[in-house]
Formats: sequence, structure tokens, C-alpha cells
Amino acid sequence: MAARAQTCLVQYPDIFTYYFPCEGLCDNCCQDNRELVRSVFNRVAPSTHTPYEGGDVLRHFTIVGVDELEGAPNDMCGAANEFWAADGYCINDPRAGYPTAQAYFCDEVFEDHAEVRSELQCKDFQIGGNEGDEVSGLYRITEEMDYLGASILHEMLHMNAIGSATGETNEDSPGAAIIKDITGAYGPLGSRMLVQNRLDDVSPGLAFLNADSYVWYAVKCVWTNECSAQLDSERQHRCGRFDEPPAE
Ligand SMILES: [Zn+2]
Repeated sequence: MAARAQTCLVQYPDIFTYYFPCEGLCDNCCQDNRELVRSVFNRVAPSTHTPYEGGDVLRHFTIVGVDELEGAPNDMCGAANEFWAADGYCINDPRAGYPTAQAYFCDEVFEDHAEVRSELQCKDFQIGGNEGDEVSGLYRITEEMDYLGASILHEMLHMNAIGSATGETNEDSPGAAIIKDITGAYGPLGSRMLVQNRLDDVSPGLAFLNADSYVWYAVKCVWTNECSAQLDSERQHRCGRFDEPPAE
């Protein structure tokens, strides 16, 4: 997924502009922004030629089966309510020089999403079609595109050994994630609203520090590639691309 996100910068350059600041910027500024995002994904997958080989930093990323925050004031899994449910969380070691981070996944993540990408099909993203007609509807960006791999990528992005590729630091608050979750900027809709400057008191530049901006950029890259045949249908408004805005 991280390798696909990097090739996507060249293969489908317009997709980047939906999730990160680019529109209206000078060419060089936009290119610098692409390079910054590429450098983050590059920490996860250093070579697009060997996309299944993870980067060195992943040696320090552990998924644990014990919910250490259960019952704590910042109980991520237990804090789930009807408005927001955490998929999981990632804790960075606050000590300087310790790049380790551990992630835990809440039960919800196994119930809400497809576990693997192969459980999903392009037709699952078709909206407004007539029942039984495979080609009558439009293919749109939807939450249905999410799968467990995307949630794992999300937690990896909270790891500071990866987030430091943005050039930002967290010296003032050791252990806090550099790439975090900007309030309201979750999912395909929230991450789009962030870059469109439609979230109160949040500047579009914060997309570089928002985990779901990277995740939904990568998700759109993956499915645009997988579903290219369906997206080429003449009924599709944006030939070769999923329709926007995402389904709410
Ligand atoms: Zn998160």
C-alpha cells in the first residue's frame, strides 16, 4: 500500500491534489509537497520494486494483543461512542533514542472493516445503480473501501520514526505522535474537508500531520488502480477516477 502510494504520485498525479495542498500553489511548491509525502511512505516501503519489503523502521513497530489503555482516562477503545470509534492506537516510546512504538487494535476494527483487501470488489463502491445492473451506477469514494491493512498503515503513521520524515519534531511533548489525528479530519470526507479548508481553525497544511490524509490518499490510489476497468466506463463522470465527493 505504501509502495502503491509512491508510484501513484507519478501514475495518477491528480489524486494527490485531493488529499494534500497543491491546487493553486506554484509548481515547485506542489512538487515539494509530493516529495514530502513520498518521503513518509518511503519509510514504510523503501523500494517500489520490492513493495512487500518493509523499511528498517518497521523493526521497531509492534502490534500487541493487550489493551494497555483499558480503563485509563485516555481509554481509546472504550471511549467509542456513536460519533467516533477508534480503530486502535499507537504508543511511541517517549525516551530519546528509542524509536519503538506499539499498536493495539480495538475489537471494532475487526467488525467494521473487511479484514483483507480481497474481500472487497470494485462493485462494492458503486452507488445509485439499478439492482442487478453491474454498470448502471457511479463508482464513488466510500468508507467501504477501508480494510484492515489501511488501519495498520494508519497506526504505523503515528510512529515517530516514520512521522519525523515530515521534518517536524515533538521535542516539547516526548512520545506524542508527530503525525496525529486532526479533529474532524477522519475518513475520506474529513480528510478532503481538511485540505479544502472547510474545517474550523484547521489550516490545509495540517494534512501533512494527519494520519487519515495519508491513508485515504493511499486507499484511493489502490482502488483506482484495481478498478481501472470499471472506472473507464463511459457512465463514470470522471473517466478513470472515482467520483467525488465521497459518500457521507
Ligand atoms: Zn489515529
